[in-house]
Amino acid sequence: MSGRKRKTKTMIIVPEKEIAGLLTRADAFEAVEKVFASMSKGSAYNFPVIREAIGYEDALYGFKGGFDKAGMALGLKAGGYWPNNLEKHGEINHQSTVFLFDPDTGKVKAMVGGNLLTALRTAAASSVSIKHLARKDAKVMGMVGAGHQATFQLRAALEQRDFEKVIGWNYHPEMLPNIERVANEAGLPFEAVPLEGLAEADVVISITSTFAPTIMADHIAPGTHIACMGTDTKGKQEVEASLLARATVFTDEVAQSISIGEAQHAIASGLIEQSDVHELGAVINGTHPGRTSADEITLFDGTGVGLQDLAVASSIVDLAVEKGVATIVDF
Ligand code: NAD
Repeated sequence: MSGRKRKTKTMIIVPEKEIAGLLTRADAFEAVEKVFASMSKGSAYNFPVIREAIGYEDALYGFKGGFDKAGMALGLKAGGYWPNNLEKHGEINHQSTVFLFDPDTGKVKAMVGGNLLTALRTAAASSVSIKHLARKDAKVMGMVGAGHQATFQLRAALEQRDFEKVIGWNYHPEMLPNIERVANEAGLPFEAVPLEGLAEADVVISITSTFAPTIMADHIAPGTHIACMGTDTKGKQEVEASLLARATVFTDEVAQSISIGEAQHAIASGLIEQSDVHELGAVINGTHPGRTSADEITLFDGTGVGLQDLAVASSIVDLAVEKGVATIVDF
């Protein structure tokens, strides 16, 4: 063995049911803020995303991977969106699993349930954008979307500013009680509004699965920060493309924003250029000023990057072993 390091001979499995007891919103926020900063410094990068309509169950399935050299996290998240799950199988529509590999040998290290992890890391991303881009005096929180992710998004967002009220619109109005409950749990009143009513919001999060824009440019007032979190696939679109031309646009990753994110449409129609899309990581690192005036619209195009998943999954694996809730399998 001289001169050779003994390498991992086990695979660690952390099942979905254990994630809730392992990852807090604060942990997810910290991991995501850190990895956005690393991406912007060039010490971590994402691989091109594979995302396919598989021609069965209307499902979109794919892989998001990356390598964070600083955190030594290598791996991928496999999964996607099954729109009929809830109705047909009583399962949530978003299903995924994270696989981590040993960067020294390529051997598989861990398999981690990715569903709750996805919701927490996605909510952390919009929260990080609110922390760095929303006006400090934001009081009215606006939600577009009331599905599975929306509740996590709202819960995390409300921790970022002293909000006094939540307003919301959803394509399926019968789902609005999902977000009303979260607002009320935080001690805030909730009001269902028409899309035009969003002009009252200081911060808006959109998290829907639509392929046709529902939020028009004139629904959003000057000074608003909007986090567009639903568009993570070619063809999806939540906001009118001209809103991106009116806003200062930030994203988790520029390559994803212009190909599978909200910016794909504004770029395709020539309304903005790639150089108009800025990394949120640059704002975190202080190399981009972020919001520069009180009436500027800031827009975060949150496409969801593999490195977010790897960052939170890595921290979960260590904790799961420490707490004795991981299954350790010998090779
Ligand atoms: P869900 O099925 O639980 O909810 C879907 C939401 O979209 C509901 O609010 C529904 O009313 C709304 N909706 C459906 N059809 C619509 C239409 N035609 N027009 C307007 N709204 C419509 O899904 P979810 O798990 O909450 O995920 C929502 C979206 O977020 C999905 O598109 C998913 O792919 C995306 N997502 C993105 C990330 C990311 O990192 N950016 C992460 C997870 C999920």
